Amino acid sequence: MPQSLIKNIVIVGGGTAGWMTATALATVLRGRYPIRLIESEEIGIVGVGEATIPMIQRYNKIIGLDEAEFVRETQGSFKLGIEFVNWGRLGERYMHGFGPIGQDLWTVRFDQYWHKMRKLGKAAPLEAYSITRMASKANRFMPPDTSVSNSPLNDIAYAYHFDAGLYARYLRKLAEGRGVQRTEGKITRVEQREADGFVRAVVLENGERIEGDLFIDCSGFRGLLIEETLHTGYEDWRHWLPCDRALAVPCESAPMLTPYTRSTAHRAGWQWRIPLQHRTGNGHVYCSDFVSDDEAAHTLLAHLDGKALADPRPLRFVTGMRKQCWNRNVVAVGLSSGFLEPLESTSIHLIQSTIAQLIDFFPDQGFNPTETAEFNRLSRFHFERIRDFIILHYHLNQRTDSPFWQACAHMPIPDTLQHKIDLYKATGRLLRVDNELFSEVGWLQVMEGQNLVPDQYQPLVDLQSEDDIHQYLESVRLVIEKCVGVMPEHSQFIREHCKAAPVTL
Ligand code: FAD
Repeated sequence: MPQSLIKNIVIVGGGTAGWMTATALATVLRGRYPIRLIESEEIGIVGVGEATIPMIQRYNKIIGLDEAEFVRETQGSFKLGIEFVNWGRLGERYMHGFGPIGQDLWTVRFDQYWHKMRKLGKAAPLEAYSITRMASKANRFMPPDTSVSNSPLNDIAYAYHFDAGLYARYLRKLAEGRGVQRTEGKITRVEQREADGFVRAVVLENGERIEGDLFIDCSGFRGLLIEETLHTGYEDWRHWLPCDRALAVPCESAPMLTPYTRSTAHRAGWQWRIPLQHRTGNGHVYCSDFVSDDEAAHTLLAHLDGKALADPRPLRFVTGMRKQCWNRNVVAVGLSSGFLEPLESTSIHLIQSTIAQLIDFFPDQGFNPTETAEFNRLSRFHFERIRDFIILHYHLNQRTDSPFWQACAHMPIPDTLQHKIDLYKATGRLLRVDNELFSEVGWLQVMEGQNLVPDQYQPLVDLQSEDDIHQYLESVRLVIEKCVGVMPEHSQFIREHCKAAPVTL
């Protein structure tokens, strides 16, 4: 039987999610499916997602993005990891650097040998075995040098910081160039088919009616189609991630352009710092049960690099996810599908992974419910695994200075997370389930950075002599030290390859 193909795709919303979806679909579907994007300048975008993780390279490759142009056009900078300040105990800091730690050589993972030597007082701090952590510390950056094989210089994992408004504008140019038709206007009514509740059309304030077969809901927190129309339902995770508000404010740049995001824990939340070429982005994510909006604003403004360039902008959110990200002929992408706070910069990644899933499961007019169910299962898996990783940061604190942190340390946590913590504590073993986003190395850095020390290392470590292990660790450390020494300063790299035009703010 011939399959009846989707005739047209309608994307509702032109924030990061809308334009990322439009650009990817226009590229992959090669213009064979008409794509229409509707956005309302009056409603505007959230516009605060400015830090990414290395997986974005895959998205960039699919859309054929020119990196230098993209960084220039978005006032971007490069990111080698996230520095966490005050998360274990007050005054402590550690980094979650991208890419590998050490180099695997023998039967078991590098970190197992490191655990043994650390117990013996013969290992350097974990960061000494990571090129991205050491480069961040030295404020240096370069992309991987593929001409040198078997060197840490060939294995530098990195992501970007960028101005969210400029990013949406940049992607819009690409998407429109690839045939996406943009419509400016506010949707005031949604029509559904009587028989099955599928969305048939959206109607704009000016009366224009836009029909579609597949609707992609990128309308932000409100979920215009997925929630306001289809009433899909939302799972609230505030009992595990209790922060529910944020204040965002840009400020003047610091003299040094650092190649990493910083997250500083405060009394009842934390503050992000995202360095861009033209300004620094900042925000305070906090829990309204423990701190007032005024105090949160005061704390934010007291911890800026330079002069604030605007008044702090308030945002409210409920951490959690939509019960189904795909319902009938509506797929939710971005904030309409759920929200996890930006502690590990994962929202843009979730947009990207949902787009990849949508391409994998691209429907015909039949909208096979088995496929839709599998899509929803995968979305849930990704959301829940990232959720666990974020809870880990809160739960694993030893702060005694505030009721908020003590509540986080004592709260019940999901079984999936408790299992990972127990396994690591008892044996040093790190567990990555299927293709969950964060690798063993990510979990290791946060657990170690927040003072969770395993009771044991794996027995096969003792197959090697102490001297051999010591030499092995030292050789890795020295190679990394040497490699960082040849990397250029972050700002020098930008100056030479992707300097943005100056702007007056
Ligand atoms: P929005 O930006 O809200 O866009 C919604 C779109 O829908 C707009 O174009 C709007 O005009 C349109 N729309 C809505 N209703 C209508 C209507 N009736 N008619 C027509 N159009 C309509 N992510 C990261 O990866 N890294 C970060 O560092 C990061 N930091 C964040 C910090 C905070 C405090 C928050 C809240 C989020 C952060 N995020 C981060 C998440 C990131 O901002 C979002 O994932 C991203 O911006 C996507 O938003 P969106 O496109 O889904 O929604």
